[in-house]
Amino acid sequence: MQLSFSQLNTYQTCPKQYEFACVKKIPRQISAGESFGSSVHNTLSKWGKLEVDRGKRKVKSNQLALFADVSEETPLSLTASTLSLLWHQSFIVQGYDSKEDADSARKKGEVLMQKFFDWWEKEQREVLVIEKGFSIEVDIDIVKGRFDRIERTNGKLIIIDYKTGGIRTQEEVDTDLQLSIYALACEEILGEKCDELVLMFLQADGITEVHTSRTEAQLNTAREIIGSISERIDDENFEPTPSESACKRCPYRGVCAASVV
Ligand code: SF4
Repeated sequence: MQLSFSQLNTYQTCPKQYEFACVKKIPRQISAGESFGSSVHNTLSKWGKLEVDRGKRKVKSNQLALFADVSEETPLSLTASTLSLLWHQSFIVQGYDSKEDADSARKKGEVLMQKFFDWWEKEQREVLVIEKGFSIEVDIDIVKGRFDRIERTNGKLIIIDYKTGGIRTQEEVDTDLQLSIYALACEEILGEKCDELVLMFLQADGITEVHTSRTEAQLNTAREIIGSISERIDDENFEPTPSESACKRCPYRGVCAASVV
């Protein structure tokens, strides 16, 4: 079976939600939180691509410098004002209840981008991968996903995933399935084990990084979880697992008889 990480995550949250979204394919509105998250991801993806381009230009300019004193102009410099410009260019207005809500989210994003820039300029970072999709075999299943960012910093290969929701605990991050899938994909795609996995929580009051790593035993557990979800989907097991936190954020709560909110 072919599954994206987002489908696995939806099934883990609640099998009924998976049925609504992926089997019945009931259309739903994008929420304000999802819209804001997409705006942030799109901005940081464009920023990351500028970083990659700068790296390529440096190599090219060094090669040219062997023959002449020539260097290329930088189209967009990696400054806080460029990041702010990218934010405004990438901001998605859909999903908010009113223009005031959208304006307030846009302002919050400006602050958040400044916090990201402060984090970013603290270290020399070599960006290896930005917004790259992958597809890997996990036993008999194919799992698809997308890296936000992989960088080499202080000699360590680090996978970073951006989050705009609430900060998770260390225990939650240590057992996060998405990060285990990234660790599996990194080995397969880059041919190298990652040293660290990071969930980066981007909030207007600051950047919080929660670091973790994966042992071979943890990766085997992730493979088992994926296999078990795939089997249950194949058996059409869509028993709801309602909880206040899941139902509160569920886009199908209005049509779900099992909702507890
Ligand atoms: S409302 Fe609750 S029980 Fe119903 S699908 Fe959503 S998360 Fe599951």
